Amino acid sequence: MRYYDKLIFELSKKDRVGHNLPTNDFIDIKLDSKLLRNDDANLPEVTELDLVRHYTNVSLKNFGVETGFYPLGSCTMKYNPKINDELATLPGFANIHPLQPNSVSQGFLKIYHDLAIYLSKITGMDAYSLNTYAGAQGELAGLMIIKKYHHDRNDFKRNKIIVPDSAHGTNPASATVAGFDIVEVKSNLDGTINIDALKEALDDTVAGLMLTNPNTVGMFEKDILEVSNLIHECGGLLYYDGANLNALLGIARPGDMGFDITHLNLHKTFSTPHGGGGPGSGPVGVKGFLKDYLPGPVVYKYSDKYVFETPKETIGALSSFYGNASVYLRAYVYIRTLGEENISKIGPLATLNANYIKESLKHLFKLPIKTHAMHEFVFDGLIDQSTNIKTLDIAKRLLDYGIHAPTIYFPLTFSQSLMIEPTEVESLETLDHFIETMSIIADDSINNPQIVKNAPHNTIVRRLDEAKAARNPIVKFKDISKLT
Ligand SMILES: *Cc1c(COP(=O)(O)O)cnc(C)c1O
Repeated sequence: MRYYDKLIFELSKKDRVGHNLPTNDFIDIKLDSKLLRNDDANLPEVTELDLVRHYTNVSLKNFGVETGFYPLGSCTMKYNPKINDELATLPGFANIHPLQPNSVSQGFLKIYHDLAIYLSKITGMDAYSLNTYAGAQGELAGLMIIKKYHHDRNDFKRNKIIVPDSAHGTNPASATVAGFDIVEVKSNLDGTINIDALKEALDDTVAGLMLTNPNTVGMFEKDILEVSNLIHECGGLLYYDGANLNALLGIARPGDMGFDITHLNLHKTFSTPHGGGGPGSGPVGVKGFLKDYLPGPVVYKYSDKYVFETPKETIGALSSFYGNASVYLRAYVYIRTLGEENISKIGPLATLNANYIKESLKHLFKLPIKTHAMHEFVFDGLIDQSTNIKTLDIAKRLLDYGIHAPTIYFPLTFSQSLMIEPTEVESLETLDHFIETMSIIADDSINNPQIVKNAPHNTIVRRLDEAKAARNPIVKFKDISKLT
């Protein structure tokens, strides 16, 4: 073990000092003893240098989009330009207090207001609420809106939400939390909706359908207009899971496809560092006839004044104040720096990059869905199975080359799924390096299978017992010896 791989508590030496505070020129205040702790806090005591080395080393143990290529299907791990962070953390934004009056936060409110308009234009919706903290929470808000809409029309029998079996797991989960029964309809092999199965599920108890387009395997739902007509004819509403919007940017808008409600994953499509539970945001957009149901508060503009107000028929508030403000600032800067013309290139480039990889590797990896993919696609393991190398082995071997593994074993439709989403930000050289690496791994899988089977070789820890790591994680300081 390298010295600086130790925990900060192990580096600690009593009375070492790493800070230099100015002398206190305020009067001394005696706090009531019941406000004071009995013992000193057990904090590590290290020099500034030890502290810097500690955190630098910790950061190197992680993998991020700033470390290397990160083609994690379904997650849109695109690069987040630094200017987004820089502007989102300007003191005027970072130090604002949610309880200060609207009159002294007009700039901030204007950004909320304008961002909602940009998102409306980009998606073809009429209004947005920025109240929700994540994609899944946006789904819940959307479903609560669907419920309230039907109930307000005295239609209480609509208790079903249709979800295709290829849907992201959060869709049925959110619908259940919102109190609906789930009707699962079968998908075609390429994850698109099976229209006959859909027709069979339709009746006057259907509240709505949840759909993402392109779907979770990266295929465009080409029958979307027919799906939309069928749902609307039976009195239901159409919900768009906007997590895959990246593929459509500049090309198509869910609002034009007949969707009534949508959530967006700003942390995926509009550039906020995410993963590992990082900050998220799932604003909810609706067509005009639903705008009074939005979760609030929402920013309205009266002549030249911006105010936070709660929509008249709101489903309620879903965050304590105004949602995840820093994610909105980043999305705003991202949209403004790119501008309409460049945003229109995102979808086509993301799609081009995915198809470039797919076509370059399909002679080595099984391609179960042969049609044109959108921003992501799925391989089903190696074509040559003679040495029994699995998707897991390939994913682990990629780590040795400094490449993050694609999403593996999802979707469940295929036994060796390897789901690849390069995003639009990668250069041709990076894509070529990935293709070359995958080709080397495919070749080694046949001619030198042990090196793939035993991978990774160059990482801080080797192959973990994944079930044990998930069920029995050692996260306590005392157990550190067991890690080494
Ligand atoms: C990521 C994702 C979600 C969930 O979004 P969170 O922000 O993680 O809650 C929902 N649907 C699809 C298709 C996704 O890819």
